[in-house]
Amino acid sequence: MTPSPIAAFSRIGEENAFAVLARATQLMREGKDVINLGIGQPDFPTPPNIVEAAIKALRDGHHGYTPANGILPLREGVAADLHRRFGLSVSPEEVMIVPGGKVTMFMVILMFGEPGAEILYPDPGFPIYRSMIEFTGATPIPVPVREENGFAFSAEETLSLITPRTRLLIVNSPANPTGGVTPKAEVDKLVKGLAERPRVAILSDEIYDQMVYDGEEHVCLLSYPEIRDRTILLNGWSKTYAMTGWRLGYSVWPGRLYEAARKLAVNSFSCVNAPAQWAALEALTGPQDAVASMAAEFDRRRKAVVAGLNALPGVSCATPKGAFYAFPNVSQTKWKAKALASALLEDAGIATIGGPDFGVFGEGYIRLSYANSLENIERALGRMRDFLERKNAA
Ligand code: PLP
Repeated sequence: MTPSPIAAFSRIGEENAFAVLARATQLMREGKDVINLGIGQPDFPTPPNIVEAAIKALRDGHHGYTPANGILPLREGVAADLHRRFGLSVSPEEVMIVPGGKVTMFMVILMFGEPGAEILYPDPGFPIYRSMIEFTGATPIPVPVREENGFAFSAEETLSLITPRTRLLIVNSPANPTGGVTPKAEVDKLVKGLAERPRVAILSDEIYDQMVYDGEEHVCLLSYPEIRDRTILLNGWSKTYAMTGWRLGYSVWPGRLYEAARKLAVNSFSCVNAPAQWAALEALTGPQDAVASMAAEFDRRRKAVVAGLNALPGVSCATPKGAFYAFPNVSQTKWKAKALASALLEDAGIATIGGPDFGVFGEGYIRLSYANSLENIERALGRMRDFLERKNAA
């Protein structure tokens, strides 16, 4: 009989977006017309200059291992990009190249999670935070993210949840699944409180930092010297450059933690795919017009999706200020959120994700990714209207 893995594997979770993607793909294979507003990935191709850089790297013979922390020109490129965008002074020795944004959260949570430790994470939030916290045996402490607060996190509520056992705080702005952006004044308040709690490490997930709308400004947590020595920045290429399948991310680590992260890299993935790293360098140093035009297109769709959702019976949708998600409140329909998401897929051919897949505070909401064409978004909204009218009448 095959032996079982250790008990921790009974606690590890999932990202239901992948299960919804699999089901949507299966339905499409059966000939159904499914509009996919489920998975969170840009529908644009990777810009051609980036693709060409990867091909060139292969032709130039970049076929071998690279240093585990990434090639130096790319780490320099990340440091220069953070300087260009936020005026930050980051050393390439603090930058680590990893296979996807997810890998940074995996490493950080492994570093701070153990039985007896508490880790604070946003709820609703990216499901892997909680999954990994539980895997380590640490206690997950959800920090509620509230619609009445524009889906920004509350500094006061976050700080009130910190105890002597808190080892790590995870923050995410712009946020998945809500699209919430936390204003600078609130971030300032949080940092002020954290400055008085020096034992707490901070993981700042800023993977959507170039997707902010309505004149909002992204605040990078590395800009605060008072917490810099215990802040880890998570970022990457997946969303900004439409490169989800390339598996490319980076993190910035304070010196003491860098070595631990590098060892995790050596013990697991060795290094990121070499041509992908050269493509990532082209992404940062080449023309940035594609980033701006993708964000402008997301903005157009955001407006359409919010207006359309607010016109549906029983649905209200706060205007998301970032990322490419809308998180409408569906509590006034007669559906529980997960049942609604499932019925929308099976009955109306629209893939969405139920709010509870992002945590208990996600009940009453569903997530729509508007990384799909305006035409498909309009079609999906029309189908949702038909569905809700039909079912509410039933
Ligand atoms: N962080 C957040 C908040 C995300 O939404 C995602 C992906 O959906 C990630 C991290 C992971 O990104 P990657 O695909 O680069 O691993």
